[in-house]
Amino acid sequence: MDFGRILEVDLSAGKISEREVKEEVAKKFFGGSGLAAKILYDEADLSLDPFDRKNPLIFMAGLLTGCGIPGTVKLSVCSKSPLTGVWGESTVGGHWPPEFRFTGYSGIIITGKADAPVYLWITESGAEIRSAEEIWGLDTFQADERLKGQTDEKARVAAIGPAGEKLARIASIVFDGRNARNAGRCGVGAVMGSKNLKAIVVRGKKVPEVADKEGLKAALKEDVPVIMKYAEAFGKFGTAGGVEVVEHLGDLPIKNWQLGSWTEGAKKVAGQAMQPKYLEKHYHCLGCPIGCGKIYKVEELGLHGHAPEYETIAGFGPMCLNEDPLPLIEANELCNRFGLDTISTSSCIAFAMEAHEKGLLSKEDIGFELKWGDGKAAVAIIHQIAKQEKAGKLLAHGVLRAAKELGPKATEFAIHTKGLEYAFHDPRAHVSMACNYATAPRGGDHLAALSYLLDRGIPLSDLGYTTPPDPHTSDGKAKITYDMQNFIGVFNPLGLCVFYYMGGRIGPKLIAKWINLVTGWDLNMDEVMKASERIFNLKRMYNARLGLSRKDDVLPSRLANLARPDGTAAGVLPDMNKMLSEYYELRGWGERGIPTEEKMKELGLEAEARLCK
Ligand code: SF4
Repeated sequence: MDFGRILEVDLSAGKISEREVKEEVAKKFFGGSGLAAKILYDEADLSLDPFDRKNPLIFMAGLLTGCGIPGTVKLSVCSKSPLTGVWGESTVGGHWPPEFRFTGYSGIIITGKADAPVYLWITESGAEIRSAEEIWGLDTFQADERLKGQTDEKARVAAIGPAGEKLARIASIVFDGRNARNAGRCGVGAVMGSKNLKAIVVRGKKVPEVADKEGLKAALKEDVPVIMKYAEAFGKFGTAGGVEVVEHLGDLPIKNWQLGSWTEGAKKVAGQAMQPKYLEKHYHCLGCPIGCGKIYKVEELGLHGHAPEYETIAGFGPMCLNEDPLPLIEANELCNRFGLDTISTSSCIAFAMEAHEKGLLSKEDIGFELKWGDGKAAVAIIHQIAKQEKAGKLLAHGVLRAAKELGPKATEFAIHTKGLEYAFHDPRAHVSMACNYATAPRGGDHLAALSYLLDRGIPLSDLGYTTPPDPHTSDGKAKITYDMQNFIGVFNPLGLCVFYYMGGRIGPKLIAKWINLVTGWDLNMDEVMKASERIFNLKRMYNARLGLSRKDDVLPSRLANLARPDGTAAGVLPDMNKMLSEYYELRGWGERGIPTEEKMKELGLEAEARLCK
């Protein structure tokens, strides 16, 4: 199999070189965030400030990205996070990642800082550094159009907006222009901005070689109809279709995680309510038959682009008590244009609403009243965050930093772990998620486990999960977290969309079969899961080298100590001490939460262990 080549771009020196991906390394770490973790762990100086010009920013396609299997469309962007100061990664799909893989490259390691704004233009013939002085300051949709004009109308663009240029620590990278696929989390857009790198534009046609082309074709003929039997319903409304179910389960965060139910509001902002009014068409990542994305055309606002998905709806809807779909859709569009992570941005706005209510952030600080439920005020704050004006100066760098500025009372309602704002699934409704949020390498990250899906009745029979567990007990949840982190951790390094589990119910046995058909290897399910465990531990060791341990595996006090007052999850609190102790035992970590030497040896990480002393 062709593993692709990796570009090494030094923007300070204006130099570009290449390196190969060794098969033995790919077999241990796959690609995506796995291979990026290996490179950053071995080669980066972890003591550097994330904005130091020497801090590397890595774009890495998954091992299977672009190989023709539906859903293999993902790429990870990894770096030391400027938001959290620890392991940072963000994964994106759409059309850019496979198009990049079709250039013959699988990764880009970017170091240095250009003297003036630049963009990278990458084709099968190589890479060029070009001036971006004319497009610096444009939003991501404008940059997309302009850069296609300068390169190829069929090219694909990944760009930062004004937020990334101004080093907002919650800045994202927006891929595919108006279709707005985001590498949103951990402030990777700000790392790109710190390098004066406005965009990466790609155009390629060379599909990666597959070891057993006929075998793969025959397998997909059988596998895809089974996946689609389950995924069809999910494809209809995408993640936005889950808002009411999530509310019913007590999983929806309401008023900055303070309330227990919001039934009428959920009906108004659910995909089922918005889609009939605004849907122009369904959006499919390259070659994906599910098509869970939606493109909206909203005449009232003059907007045309990717519709808000579940996380964005939860953030600008119930988190802010906003029941009006129009400002919610506008907030989504603005975040995409400015290059802002919608989860962190909406969390910061809900935090600001509470700070304003409690008298910690005045009308003068903001410039207007910022009341719960005022969607238009939330939209106005997004402009402030992008420009870093008024309250936006404070909020552009996440809730942890904002709370430190506002004083100890504000830290009580800053909802984050390790500095990363929580995704919008409540660990009091799905207790296994508490164990996951506390231990996920990048912080408040739902995608590290997605274990609430088991509670919702999505089985994982390869691992013995055939009936839904009790979502509210802490018993047995360490094991579920361990299993689900190892299973879900397989997806990003392979470049495979996790919705193929959520919507399509695929498991590790099928994934192992696909890997073998593409690579010619002979891995079984346990070896695939072991690779994921190895990658998870490597990220844990990356954080351990930065001084993180059990003391950092904590929930924010509101979620650890205050139960939801009503609704399905009323009265539930996770037993963190019990879960963490059981979890460390299963992981083979010591009491402080550091992988033991024995564990590292078992995972084939002896060489890496030496750097973790
Ligand atoms: S399921 Fe949705 S996010 Fe995943 S590849 Fe298909 S269209 Fe893209």
